[in-house]
Amino acid sequence: MKKLSKLEKILKVFVYIITPFVYMNAPLIPIKNPNIKFYIEKNLNEIIKEQEEVLNIKHFGVPTIVVKPEDFEHNNIFSGVRLGYYSNDTIYINSTLEITVPNSKLNNILGDIFFFGHTSNIKEILDHELGHYYVDKLKENLNINKELDTNLIKIGMKLISEGIAEYFKNKIYKKDLKKYNLVKSVDDMKYGEFYNCGYHLVKPVIDRHGKKGIEYLIANPPTNEDLEQLLQYQNRTLENLEQNVKK
Ligand SMILES: [Zn+2]
Repeated sequence: MKKLSKLEKILKVFVYIITPFVYMNAPLIPIKNPNIKFYIEKNLNEIIKEQEEVLNIKHFGVPTIVVKPEDFEHNNIFSGVRLGYYSNDTIYINSTLEITVPNSKLNNILGDIFFFGHTSNIKEILDHELGHYYVDKLKENLNINKELDTNLIKIGMKLISEGIAEYFKNKIYKKDLKKYNLVKSVDDMKYGEFYNCGYHLVKPVIDRHGKKGIEYLIANPPTNEDLEQLLQYQNRTLENLEQNVKK
């Protein structure tokens, strides 16, 4: 075995000492990855085009993209940092090393060290957030009342919205997650489960009915009662859509 040089040894010890410290504080330190913005500027139109082809939809224009360190008021080491979110025609991307970018080798290695390999790919984040953008614009286009979001079915709408965004991402990446048990109550779900549940809730609907399925879901999200019986909600949705097809 090759002997480590003195410099390599020192470097290694340094990384072992510094890594836990940086990891613990990472959500609080705005470690920037300057390549994120550059990547998006160069690839956004292509990513939108790919979604249109794979999902057989037409996007309603191009969203504004803002790359910035997440404001820390909303984050702490316990809640974690949001990597991306959508609001009002704009996709916000956190400029952190936790996000990896193709052709950004050094930053990706640093990100892997600081975040113990728990990094996310910029394109997957964009594919998800573009799903939110599409849903929002489609709602506008169909004149679906935005108040739907703020009244009693807020959680149902969020479940549908995250489910569609996850569907966009997983379809592009040809990922098919293990079947989720829709019998579980939404109240008992952990953070990641909510996304997974939303995905499996909308998947058969969009698989079978495409854009029409998306339109139906956002016009008829689960009510609070449906949240206790998601499987029934899904079956009812599929039945209603079949009826519409037959008409
Ligand atoms: Zn989302």
